[in-house]
Amino acid sequence: MFLEPSFKGQRSGWIEVICGSMFSGKTEELIRRLKRAKFANMKVGIFKPSVDTRYDDEKVVSHDSNYIMSQPVAECQEILKLSLSYNVVGIDEAQFFSEDLVEVAQTLALRGKRVIIAGLDMDYRGIPFGPMPNLLAVAEYITKVHAICPHCGNLATHSYRKAAEESRVLLGEKDSYEPRCRTCYQMGNILDLKIKIDEKEHQAD
Ligand code: ZN
Repeated sequence: MFLEPSFKGQRSGWIEVICGSMFSGKTEELIRRLKRAKFANMKVGIFKPSVDTRYDDEKVVSHDSNYIMSQPVAECQEILKLSLSYNVVGIDEAQFFSEDLVEVAQTLALRGKRVIIAGLDMDYRGIPFGPMPNLLAVAEYITKVHAICPHCGNLATHSYRKAAEESRVLLGEKDSYEPRCRTCYQMGNILDLKIKIDEKEHQAD
C-alpha cells in the first residue's frame, strides 16, 4: 500500500499517479489518499474533466459509490487558478484531459503541492491514453492497480470493450467494458475480428 512520504525538509511538492484498467480501483485509491489528507487537516481540492458526467456532476464517484466532492473543469489550465489555496490537489479521470496536464501537474508540484492523479493508462485498444504516459514519466510515485480477469482469474491490465457496444463513447459503464488479462484481451479481439469477417462474408452471399 502507498504510504505518504514525510513533509519534513521537502522544498517542493510532488506528483503521484494511480493508473490501471477499468474496475481496478483507481478512484477508490484516489479517494482513500484524499480522505487521509483531509483528516490530517490538509486543504484538499479535487478536479475532474467536465466531459466525465457518468454518475454525478460534482462528485468523484467510484463504482462502489464511495465519493468525495469535486469541481468539474473544461480545461486542465483552470486547475492552476482554482487550486491556489490547496495543499493537496486530486485529479480524477486524467486521461480525458489534454497533454497540457503534464505541465499543469509539474507547475502545481513546484508550487509545493502534493498532486495525486488517477486515470486509465490504456484505452480499449490497448493504446496509452491521453497525457497518462507522460504523466507517468514525470511523476515521483507511480501505483499501478489491477482488476481481476473474469475469464481466468489472472490479473487484468486491459479494458476490453464488448463487441456489441462498438459505437459507444468511452465512459465506463459496467455493461460496456470488462477488465481482462493480456491473453483473454487478445483472444477477445481475435474472436471479434473473426465475427466481423464472418458477417461480411454472410452479407456478400
Ligand atoms: Zn484472463
